[in-house]
Amino acid sequence: MDCLFCKIVNKEIPAEIIYEDNHTLAFLDIHPKTPAHVLIIPKKHYASIIEVDESEIGPLFATVKKIAIMLNDKFKPDGLSIGINQGRAAGQEVDHLHIHILMRYKNDKGGSIQSIVDNPPKESLKEIKNKILN
Ligand code: 5GP
Ligand code: ZN
Repeated sequence: MDCLFCKIVNKEIPAEIIYEDNHTLAFLDIHPKTPAHVLIIPKKHYASIIEVDESEIGPLFATVKKIAIMLNDKFKPDGLSIGINQGRAAGQEVDHLHIHILMRYKNDKGGSIQSIVDNPPKESLKEIKNKILN
């Protein structure tokens, strides 16, 4: 398959890998937005969190935790932003599930994850809940 991140998993193209186990890989984003910007992926190809096998979820988030600890230890950031861009509308460019970890500092001028969009619902929270549950 012609997937950039599968090629990184298979070591067909280079990347600055900082963690690897049987299920997951963590490497530095080639266009870092913060002093360290890490991408964490399942080694198996899934386009998104919708497709990913249940059995991969645990290992994936275990690696997210490991990387969060590594960055905290080495860089002492004030915080971390951890997130997934899913679908073109959300900014996904590489169709291999990946979790971004961005280091945050008090005056880095970044915002919260929820500040990237301002398109609130017209319905009440109750109506939205009913839509989801029915
Ligand atoms: P997305 O917008 O799909 O969530 O993010 C894809 C990320 O992958 C971007 O931040 C981009 O800089 C990074 N990226 C794209 N191509 C490469 C590459 O060849 N190597 C590495 N290490 N990162 C890449
Ligand atoms: Zn892939």
